[in-house]
Amino acid sequence: MKSLSEMSLTELLSPEGFDCTCGRRHKVDLRFFRMGDGAVEALPEALALCGVGCPFVISDRNTRQAAWPLVEPVLRRAGIPYGEYTYGENHLEPDEHALGSLAMAFDPRCDGILVVGSGVLNDVGKVFSHALRLPSLIVATAPSMDGYASDNASMVRDRVKVSLYNACPRAVIADTRVLCAAPERLLQAGLGDMVAKYLSICEWRISHLVTGEYYCENVAGLVRASLRRVIESAKGLKRRDETAVRNVMEGLLLSGIAMAFAQVSRPASGLEHYFSHMWEMMALERGLPQELHGIQVGVGSLLTLGIWDWLREQTPSRETAERFMRSFDEREWEATVRRIFGAAADTILASALKEGRNDPAAHARRLERILGHWPDILQIAREELPPKAEVERLMRELQMPLTPADIGFSREDTRDALLGSREIRNKYLTGTLLWDLGLLYCLPFPFEGEASLGGNA
Ligand SMILES: [Zn+2]
Ligand SMILES: [Zn+2]
Repeated sequence: MKSLSEMSLTELLSPEGFDCTCGRRHKVDLRFFRMGDGAVEALPEALALCGVGCPFVISDRNTRQAAWPLVEPVLRRAGIPYGEYTYGENHLEPDEHALGSLAMAFDPRCDGILVVGSGVLNDVGKVFSHALRLPSLIVATAPSMDGYASDNASMVRDRVKVSLYNACPRAVIADTRVLCAAPERLLQAGLGDMVAKYLSICEWRISHLVTGEYYCENVAGLVRASLRRVIESAKGLKRRDETAVRNVMEGLLLSGIAMAFAQVSRPASGLEHYFSHMWEMMALERGLPQELHGIQVGVGSLLTLGIWDWLREQTPSRETAERFMRSFDEREWEATVRRIFGAAADTILASALKEGRNDPAAHARRLERILGHWPDILQIAREELPPKAEVERLMRELQMPLTPADIGFSREDTRDALLGSREIRNKYLTGTLLWDLGLLYCLPFPFEGEASLGGNA
């Protein structure tokens, strides 16, 4: 079989999937993707393919304004009836209220969901179509996040962020007339979500080495190749160059496909996503509006690259790591978790206990692997990670937010986000590696060498 990175998108969407040398069959539920100038013309074909005769169209005021003038004539000319609901909120939270609005507006003659939008609308559409067991399609309005082809939805339930596993959209239509006209912030967010892939692939390989977690080089290669194309043309995003926008959209779509192929989020999400996750929780708790996912992830990527710039200069010490573990104070740790997670702490603590998060024997096993393979870990970092300054230069040129302060989070929040990243679940991330080395609580603050994230847990 040729490698996944050599396949066209149409080939990748093969319903039979591919038997891979990693031992898994890679498959995705996405059946149809069309991108280009005039791609919405393919909507009747996509609806027919999904068996939808009367879609229920979901949009908000902005996405409706951006794409409806193109979508509506296509439906009208093809004689396709539809129901519709447009959110009036300026800021839509993906929560029970958003879902309730759809349930109250739903037209029961509809036999499919058509989302016109991106981000939150995509998430809400997945949950709604899953609940109704109806196929869903999406007309993308911005290349802003990598959830188009993934089957999980980032939602807020009882005011807590949760990831729900739902149906993946069956068709994605990306008309470049709409994508290229998307707000600048959304284009920046898309790039932020792509930059993360340097780190997700790096951490995936390291976890494979240290913990023996499943890894597929073929899937990693697919993500790497699309990331390369995105970075090569990224400067063009500033002038809304069509190739640059297409590459980001394609990269985001392929990232979702890669996650579906691997059946884990590893190909597309690492520590930088946990920074974002933690900041989202903080904003939710403080009643502040959420920053765009990709913008947060971009900032989290720079932080994580900064940690790696520092870590690459360190020589791991068995003594430091073992001393850290001997002096580890479970009660102090619990107090820190309670302070950082507030109401969510009980769940976190229960899962930590169940998963043996602080188990000294497991720590000792991982430490042996790390110390024995440190040159290999450095080699992986060299192969996968660009220097922070290089990525920062590109993001600055595109006028993207670069630091937590740029998006309203303090140094203390950022330190808490890093410490908390280890506690959400047992996913081996850069933060976990630092913890294993006894370095997590004494890491220098990644922006300024002299200051410190320091203190005790
Ligand atoms: Zn594979
Ligand atoms: Zn993401």
